[in-house]
Amino acid sequence: KAALLAKSQLPRFPRWVRINNLKANYDLLMNKGVFSEFTPINELSKLYPKRDCLPNKVYVDPYVDDLLAFAPSAPLLKHPLKKTGAIAFQDRASCVPAQLLDPPRDAYIIDATAAPGNKTTHLASLLGPDSKGKIFAFERDYRRAFTLKETVEAAGAENLVEIRPATDFLRSAPWNPSENELNRVTHILLDPSCSGSGIVEREEYRYVPVGEPGAKGTRNSDGASKGANTPPSAAEYEDAKSWRTGAAERDRIFALADFQVRIIEHAMRFPNATRITYSTCSIHAQENERVVMAALNTPVARNRGWVTEPRHLNRMKDWPRRGILEECNGNEQVADSCIRFNPWVDGGIGFFVAVFIRSEQERARLP
Ligand code: SAM
Repeated sequence: KAALLAKSQLPRFPRWVRINNLKANYDLLMNKGVFSEFTPINELSKLYPKRDCLPNKVYVDPYVDDLLAFAPSAPLLKHPLKKTGAIAFQDRASCVPAQLLDPPRDAYIIDATAAPGNKTTHLASLLGPDSKGKIFAFERDYRRAFTLKETVEAAGAENLVEIRPATDFLRSAPWNPSENELNRVTHILLDPSCSGSGIVEREEYRYVPVGEPGAKGTRNSDGASKGANTPPSAAEYEDAKSWRTGAAERDRIFALADFQVRIIEHAMRFPNATRITYSTCSIHAQENERVVMAALNTPVARNRGWVTEPRHLNRMKDWPRRGILEECNGNEQVADSCIRFNPWVDGGIGFFVAVFIRSEQERARLP
């Protein structure tokens, strides 16, 4: 097992700021003065890891729309734009699922595991203020649904988001004729509970709300269990197999993986769905590539024509870190359709995203 790293040894990240199109826009903030004290630079690595580097510079992310990076010391925490909801602090990798889901302006979307609502509000921002679309935000944990509501309100997204509090997405019925609106859903974002092993900057290296499969250990005030997981070093991250976990942790990860496959399988049943993103803040192949492989091998995926294809990574097609080939049983198409984030080089938490798609013909053949 990796030794616990001291906080000072952990990577430091730039401060990522996502512009909320429901309350502002890129042009207004970047070109018309509000962020005028910041000069654009092209190299992200200049903004960190030292907390005192270049507090007056800004990096415009080439992969995610409306996403900016500032030095950790940039004076943004109490910025008025944050108070009005015009900007949100959201880690870079965490912005990738909504970006890759790529919903059209009037799309009907499900965010299956939504609280605290970072990705829900990002989806709302992508739909934009004039959208006739809708986001159904499921959250099983009643208390966390309150946080979700607050996040949605702060972003001004109440008209676009219908929160389904204390509702288990796995129990939603995609084929229920009385749920006409859910039947219309074409895009589904899945960001289920995971081991949180990619979250290297926090003191608690895991993120498992009470009641999740395999949750154990002491709990912090959010109900997240604490401690037993340790972040991998840079070298260990690159070689995911070398990060050995204890037996109890392994069991917990397998329980999570089982849940993760089930949630993808369930999403694939929605009759009009053509695009699904699956993401975790875990670095374990068991929760990532192996879950993707298992989901693709379910009868639901096979019968309904769900596949993964690198070309659907859109602007992330050139992203250098892909799925681990051997964890995809040597299937290059699947590995290349998965994206990984390494906390030591990508300026944020360790993360994994995969995109599942099915063609219109497949959807029409077997809704
Ligand atoms: N996407 C969120 C964001 O970016 O702010 C973070 C989601 S967090 C990783 C996973 C959430 O899913 C937790 O709040 C958990 O309570 C919820 N959850 C877990 N299982 C669920 C289920 N079966 N149905 C609905 N929500 C679920």
